[in-house]
Amino acid sequence: MKYLTEFRNGEVAQRMAREIHQTATRPWKIMEVCGGQTHSIIRNGIDQMLPAGIEMIHGPGCPVCVTPLELIDKALAIAAQPDVIFCSFGDMLRVPGTEGDLFQVKGAGGDVRVVYSPLDAVELAAKNPAKQVVFFGVGFETTAPANAMSVHVARRRGLTNYSLLVSHVLVPPAIEAILQSPGNQVQGFLLAGHVCSVMGYWEYPRLAEQFGIPLVVTGFEPLDLLEGIRRVIVQLESGRHEVENAYERIVSFEGNRAAQKLLAEVFEVTDRAWRGIGVIPKSGWRLSEAYRAFDAEERFHISGIHTEESPLCRAGDVLRGAIKPAECSAFGKECTPRHPLGATMVSSEGACAAYFNYGRFISAEDLASAGSGLAGPAISGAANG
Ligand code: SF4
Repeated sequence: MKYLTEFRNGEVAQRMAREIHQTATRPWKIMEVCGGQTHSIIRNGIDQMLPAGIEMIHGPGCPVCVTPLELIDKALAIAAQPDVIFCSFGDMLRVPGTEGDLFQVKGAGGDVRVVYSPLDAVELAAKNPAKQVVFFGVGFETTAPANAMSVHVARRRGLTNYSLLVSHVLVPPAIEAILQSPGNQVQGFLLAGHVCSVMGYWEYPRLAEQFGIPLVVTGFEPLDLLEGIRRVIVQLESGRHEVENAYERIVSFEGNRAAQKLLAEVFEVTDRAWRGIGVIPKSGWRLSEAYRAFDAEERFHISGIHTEESPLCRAGDVLRGAIKPAECSAFGKECTPRHPLGATMVSSEGACAAYFNYGRFISAEDLASAGSGLAGPAISGAANG
């Protein structure tokens, strides 16, 4: 498939990995912000192709993972109410709250529906005037424009029975928080290509300058990732700290100005809690004053719900790069993708789930003695292997 297969070429990947080996003269720690990139790195064995001293730290960029448990509980409380049609993308339905998930609410008679766009939920509101229709609007800057458009359209059509349960988070404040955290180890960043396709990358030169770190806009295919890593290492080795774009086929410096204009109209910046990390100042969006009437939290009076995370979970340490997932004592025991205790096991894009799903908790010796065909790198013949 055009724009996919040519970015999955194993021979080119090996050549690029060899180049990285020749470039890196000392250890470096690089964070990929996005959960989609984490998943691709682990699935394709990209981290295993790198020189021993180059460590990939898996950042907080999985939207399902960083949605606070408290917000899941609020979604469950709204979805269980009579005369509510609760709409969501499919990935949020199996995320466990304190007691059950949205699938269970549906099984108990709640009207929970998977939609493919928030505009489908607006259409449901128009067709069901006697019902309250709620869309679960979570995610980064990538999903926000469609959610903003849904309330914009609902207001234009005069629909008073549509609302958004909002938990949007923003990448630049998260990067800033990581760089300011005590004991930060990250020396360079791969920026999430899809976020930058909406927002551009004009917000990042300030961070590169302030913290003296390279940031490279990077895609999701194996060759995209290797190129992003290579460019970060070239900068680190030469003492430069700039913002580069290694995803030019999708991303421009300005980004999508029309989307940014709509976002600025519908949302306003607010402090947000990130699951596994805590509250990061000015790191999210909520509906602006002009659109506050569409806020599901206010419409359903659920702001009194407060929830505690499992004390066993060390997702915050995983997200800061202080430990790898398998170093958490609950990994693969109390905590699995079927029964996740914490943020980074919840979605397949979370670092703990990626390590679990691709067998990264099994030693090479155990794997050999079991003669196992467990998932291995999609690109064979890693340059350092
Ligand atoms: S393995 Fe589970 S409990 Fe441990 S850090 Fe990851 S998500 Fe939290």
